[in-house]
Amino acid sequence: MVPNSLAPSAAVLASLDQARAFDTKAIQKLDSAHYLHPFTDFKALNETGARVMVKGDGIYLWDSEGKRIIDGMSGLWCVNVGYGRTSISEAVYRQMETLPFYNSLFNTTNLPAVQLAAKLVEISPPQFNHVFFTGSGSEGNDTNLRMVRRYWDLLGYKERHVVISRHNAYHGSTVAGASLGGMGGMHAQGGLPIPGIVHIGQPNYFEAGRGKSEEQFGLEAAGWLEAKIIELGPEKVAAFIGEPIQGAGGVIIPPASYWPEIQRICDKYGILLIADEVICAFGRIGKWFASDLFHIQPDLITFAKGVTSGYVPLGGVLVGDRVADVLIEKGGEFHHGFTYSGHPVACAAALENIRILQEEKLVEQVHVETGPYLKQQFSALAQHPLVGFADTCGLMAGLNLVREKADPVQDCVLFDVEKNVGMICRGYMFGNGLIMRAVGERMIIAPPLTITKAQIDDMIGLIWLCLDQTMADLQGRGWI
Ligand SMILES: *Cc1c(COP(=O)(O)O)cnc(C)c1O
Repeated sequence: MVPNSLAPSAAVLASLDQARAFDTKAIQKLDSAHYLHPFTDFKALNETGARVMVKGDGIYLWDSEGKRIIDGMSGLWCVNVGYGRTSISEAVYRQMETLPFYNSLFNTTNLPAVQLAAKLVEISPPQFNHVFFTGSGSEGNDTNLRMVRRYWDLLGYKERHVVISRHNAYHGSTVAGASLGGMGGMHAQGGLPIPGIVHIGQPNYFEAGRGKSEEQFGLEAAGWLEAKIIELGPEKVAAFIGEPIQGAGGVIIPPASYWPEIQRICDKYGILLIADEVICAFGRIGKWFASDLFHIQPDLITFAKGVTSGYVPLGGVLVGDRVADVLIEKGGEFHHGFTYSGHPVACAAALENIRILQEEKLVEQVHVETGPYLKQQFSALAQHPLVGFADTCGLMAGLNLVREKADPVQDCVLFDVEKNVGMICRGYMFGNGLIMRAVGERMIIAPPLTITKAQIDDMIGLIWLCLDQTMADLQGRGWI
C-alpha cells in the first residue's frame, strides 16, 4: 500500500456513508450554543450555522453533509504535507506513550525538543544556530519583542525599544502580536498597538504602484522604512519586522527590489531584522525559508504553522548568532517562556513532518514543478473580465476582483467595499467544492504542497467556473 496516497483512501470513502449519518443541524445548534469561534461575528454565525468539517485526506476535506472540498488554503496556511499522514499520528502516539509532557524550565530538557532544535538549525540559513520554542506564531512574535529589547538592554542601549512594522501585516492575535500586526480592525478593539510599535506602508503594487515600474515601487516602499527610522531617531529603533510575503493581508507579493533594500537599510542603521515566516517557511514558496528566496539574512525568524503541518500546535523563533551570542555570553535569566515551550509531542510531530518534506522532496517539487505550473495557470486567470491583477509565489496566489479592468492595473475600477464581492465569490467557491479565501476583493489560495499538476488543473477549472458564476450574479444585481 502506498502510504499517504493523494487519492481518497478506502477509509475516507467509507466515512462518506457515515457522513450521511451526521445530524448537521444538531451539531450547528450545539456549536452556536457554546462555541465562540475565533475572528467571528458570533451573531451572524448563529444565523447561518457553521460548516462542520469531519474528515481530511490529501488535499481534500469532507463536511458533515458528505461534500468533498479541495482545501485551497491548507487548513489555515499550515497543512503543508496534506491530511491523513499516518506516520505523523504514529510519531505523536509513540511520544505520548513514552513521555506526553515535561517542561524545559529548571535545567531540564527532552529528546524531541533537542532533536528538533538541531534539525531546524540544519535546514535554516547559516546564521541560525539556536531555537526558542513556543506554542504558536503569536507567542513567537511576543518572544521576538521581548528578545530584541533584552538584546539591546544587554548591550547598554536602553533607548532602543521601538519596533517598526507595516500596515496590513499579520503577526498574530496576542496583545504584542496584534500590536506588531497592522490590522486596523484588531487595533480598534482593545486600544492597540501598545507603546513602542509603529507602522509604515506595505509594498502593495496593485494598490500603490501607480506610474512606477515594480522595481521603482519596491525601492520606494522600502524607503519608507528609512524615513521612519530617521523620523524616530535611529538610536530609538530596535528592529523591523515583516512577513516576506504578507499572508492574511491578502498574499501581497513585494517587488524583487523590496527586501534587499530593506536589508540594506537595516544594516545601515544597525537595527535587527525579523522575518515572520509563519506562513512562508517549510516549503510554501519553494524554499525552506523565504529569506533564501529574497536574499535577506534576518536576525530572527518566526515560525509556526508548517513546522508541524498543523497536526499539533507548535511555534517558535530561530535566533541568529548576532542575538544568541549576546543573550548567552552576557548571562542573566531571560524572564520569558511558556509551559509548553519544547512540548515533546509537538516536537515529535514536527520531526516527522520535516522528515516527510525531505523524503518526498516536497520543497523542491514546489520550486521546480508545481510552483511554476501554478504561476502559469493562475496568471492566465487575469484574462477573466472580473480579474484585474493576479500573481503567485510558490504555492501562494491571489487575484483582485474588479468592476472594470485597466492597464496599468492601478487604474482598474474597484467595487464598493460594502458590497462584499469577495464573500459572494467565496460562496460560489465553497458551493462548487473549493476553499478559496476572500480578503476584501482579493481571492487567495495556498494549497497543500502535495498538490499535483492534475489537481492544480481541477482547482483552476473550478476558479474559472466560480468567476463566471460570480460575474453572472453581479450582473444580475446590476453591479457591473
Ligand atoms: C498565523 C500567523 C501568525 C500567528 O500564528 P498563530 O499560531 O495563529 O498564533 C503570525 N504570523 C503570521 C505571518 C501568520 O500567518
